[in-house]
Amino acid sequence: MKILLVEDEIGLADAVGALLIKEHYETDIANDGKLGLALAQTGGYDAVILDIMLPGMNGLDVLSTLRAKGIETPVLLLTAKSEVSDKINGLDCGADDYLTKPFEIGELLARIRAMTRRKGMQVDINPKYGDITLDLKKGELWCGSESVVLGRKEFQMMELLLSNEGKIVTKEMFVKKVWDSNDENDYNNVEVYISFLRKKLQILHSTVLIKTRRGIGYCLDGG
Ligand code: CA
Repeated sequence: MKILLVEDEIGLADAVGALLIKEHYETDIANDGKLGLALAQTGGYDAVILDIMLPGMNGLDVLSTLRAKGIETPVLLLTAKSEVSDKINGLDCGADDYLTKPFEIGELLARIRAMTRRKGMQVDINPKYGDITLDLKKGELWCGSESVVLGRKEFQMMELLLSNEGKIVTKEMFVKKVWDSNDENDYNNVEVYISFLRKKLQILHSTVLIKTRRGIGYCLDGG
């Protein structure tokens, strides 16, 4: 089990790191957000412990960048006591859990165990929203007893929408994940494929809609 700890308070990072190693977790430590992101992007970790207040790039930005790139490693956010809104933002950005500082090491270890267990169980579960289910293996979108086959890009886009469970997926996220680019010219492609997906939802008589958030992106609604 390999863990990435992203924490800029050196004393805390070293203490937690030492305890994780004592618990037989292989542990890497990053002391700033950019290094944390670079390491987490390798996808080689079973869990990431991520502080929010970090130099370089804050924890929430690290987290949303990871999720936009389709990296689903479980993330435990560390928040200061006063940052209640950060907890909400953190969960919206795709955190699996959070822990308020100061914390007991036993609590941290329990959260990590729960998080990695949960993730292991979810591996084969097809994502659902409202009345639709995406069959990950066959690339089919189901609604009741009806199904349609999705093209590769349609599939990737629907997967991204479903994994965000009704939260907004920006055009930038689609372009990065599906076209692997940062080119704004690809934004038109996003619009085209969203219209394909909307037609397929109609064919399925689904109550789920892909709503446009003008200038921002898209989200699932009506589930
Ligand atoms: Ca910090």
